[in-house]
Amino acid sequence: MSTHHSGIGMTSQRTRTRMVERLRDMGIADEAVLAAMNFIPRHIFVEEVLASRAYDDVSLPINFGQTISSPFIVARMTELLRAGSDLGKVLEIGSGCGYQTAILARLAREVYSVERIGPLVTRARARLRGLRLPNIYLKHADGLLGLSEAAPFDAIMLTAATTHIPSSLLEQLAIGGRLVFPKGSQEQHLCMLEKSSQGYTETTLGEVRFVPMVPGVQKG
Ligand code: SAH
Repeated sequence: MSTHHSGIGMTSQRTRTRMVERLRDMGIADEAVLAAMNFIPRHIFVEEVLASRAYDDVSLPINFGQTISSPFIVARMTELLRAGSDLGKVLEIGSGCGYQTAILARLAREVYSVERIGPLVTRARARLRGLRLPNIYLKHADGLLGLSEAAPFDAIMLTAATTHIPSSLLEQLAIGGRLVFPKGSQEQHLCMLEKSSQGYTETTLGEVRFVPMVPGVQKG
């Protein structure tokens, strides 16, 4: 962790414990998810001027018109993806600041995360390296194409909204695997797809608000 954050670091464990208690009150029941969120410092993933708000239950800007999801949404999506057992190989589409990536890394064997905006990849990589999480692979690419070189994945999470999942991405999900994503454009709902040898089961959950998935990559 960089030294200029150490002042906040002194109190962040207490603040984090309070955040976790709040998440439990809000209905997050998976203790492994809560433990991961208690462990990973969230304030290092946002600009220093926003660090004091990092543990509030809000989404915050991370530049380039993107946002870090609120703690509740991160917890909820992770809980859905995990379904109560350890995750194997996971693909995250939309690394953003890397916070969700770090949480997944505590709960999965391997996390592959793809981000389309170059500078966000560079920053996320630096932060995640600082946390010494050895099982994360970040890539600057269009996540809508998936990551065929590492497929199949036991679980896939999209952190930007889309109205439908490309079939090439669905093919990269293992049988028995789950895909969690914000579905829609103006109006969005959390959606979970489960893949079996017979096909897909779709479950629609609560209303959410995410930035949209955008095709292609952005360099600067
Ligand atoms: N999990 C992130 C969420 C960031 S917002 C966090 O907690 O910070 C969603 C991210 O998805 C943005 O960074 C955006 O650039 C990225 N994104 C949108 N479309 C994408 C695509 N086609 N491929 C990869 N990343 C994409």
